[in-house]
Amino acid sequence: MAVNIEAYKKIKSDLDAAGVTLVAVSKFKPIEDIRVLYDLGQRDFGENFVQELILKQEALPKDIRWHFIGHLQSNKVKYIAPFIHLIHGVDSYKLLKEIDKQAAKIQTNIGCLLQIYIASEETKFGFSPAELQELKEIVQLKNVDIRGYMGMASFTEDGQKIKAEFSILKNLFDQPEHLPLPGFKPSLLSMGMSGDYEIAVKSGSNMVRIGSLLFGQRDKQIS
Ligand SMILES: *Cc1c(COP(=O)(O)O)cnc(C)c1O
Repeated sequence: MAVNIEAYKKIKSDLDAAGVTLVAVSKFKPIEDIRVLYDLGQRDFGENFVQELILKQEALPKDIRWHFIGHLQSNKVKYIAPFIHLIHGVDSYKLLKEIDKQAAKIQTNIGCLLQIYIASEETKFGFSPAELQELKEIVQLKNVDIRGYMGMASFTEDGQKIKAEFSILKNLFDQPEHLPLPGFKPSLLSMGMSGDYEIAVKSGSNMVRIGSLLFGQRDKQIS
């Protein structure tokens, strides 16, 4: 069993003390590993791939809160809409509109975080802060519940750089008027992974997404 129970207990209690929600990122990890943390009381789990998430959701207890943290394709929203707790990586208006549409179809409301591009790497998805201001049509969407922001810092050892990137996100979080959505009150700031969650928490994160520290390194995709 590769699950690091000691690491989980330590991280979980530190985060609880700081009022930060731990999303245990279980992508590529087997159901049995998820169950180990479930049995210790963990309820928030994050996945990156729709097919994998659906299989796990069917096999595991229904009180798990599933977080979709990957890049979500619009045509796959309908498969997760009935059960998803929070979609972290909303990185385009087109995707947000589709989530709204699928949520309306089943008369529900889906929690979303807008992904903000803060890293200097070109491969990361998300809105720029300037693009947020242009989302005027967002007010028309009645079945999405925009609860805050998510971001990923550059993959680097340079703590100062990571800190600077997280602070961009924290500033947005602290200035809700930046998003043209009257009455917008963001409550969730999802930032921090295994390598940088301590910096993230110091920078104001209240939700971290941690995989490898809990489940060990990921090697191959389960099929
Ligand atoms: C995989 C992933 C994580 C977890 O990464 P670790 O470094 O294993 O903690 C967090 N957030 C996102 C968006 C991911 O894709």
